[in-house]
Amino acid sequence: MSNEKQLWHGIARETIPWFPTVNQDKCIGCELCFVTCGRGVYEMRDHKAHPDHLYDCMVGCTTCANICPVQAITFPDRQIVQKIEREHKILATVRKEAAAKHAKLDAAKARAQAEDAVAATVSRVAFHVAGEFGEKRFLVKLQALIKDRPFDVVNLKLEVCTLKGALEKTPSHMTFEITSTEQQDISEFLDEVRGLIRQNQLVLVNENRV
Ligand code: SF4
Ligand code: SF4
Repeated sequence: MSNEKQLWHGIARETIPWFPTVNQDKCIGCELCFVTCGRGVYEMRDHKAHPDHLYDCMVGCTTCANICPVQAITFPDRQIVQKIEREHKILATVRKEAAAKHAKLDAAKARAQAEDAVAATVSRVAFHVAGEFGEKRFLVKLQALIKDRPFDVVNLKLEVCTLKGALEKTPSHMTFEITSTEQQDISEFLDEVRGLIRQNQLVLVNENRV
């Protein structure tokens, strides 16, 4: 049994008489309580349900009694629990537990939002461009575009199908990736790259987020 189970809002669980009792004569061994109880309170023996792990039962829960088809399961009067709540003044403990739970949920929410923001940040995009590159000095213009700015061009490859073809100005293929040197979003800068491709009468074959 874990510490979490041993205490109920600061009260020793074994001092709280809240657990199921099974009338063995009524039980038909359907195992509904056994498969339903998420606390593992029940064991099945000789086609009967046995609540062997009494203090693993969640204080105040009556699920198994509610679903037993032959009403073989009973619980103490719920006033027992309410009396314990009053006597131990558990509301102060509950307030602290609630504050801790809110803090945990808020932290999880903030973490999820931060992860979403990172996932939504476009910081690296691969371009595949085709056309004539030599005379248009596309690379020089691309270099000017990133000069003194937090962007870079990496994995640059120029593929010329044949030397003769290049001399005869048949289209070549260039691939490169635009990145941010500061891990920032580059979405707006990509518009400038696309514009440069268009201005140079090159064809943007495809563009993929990396
Ligand atoms: S749900 Fe009721 S009848 Fe079915 S095994 Fe449990 S105690 Fe027995
Ligand atoms: S009352 Fe709830 S926690 Fe307790 S034995 Fe039944 S199903 Fe399990």
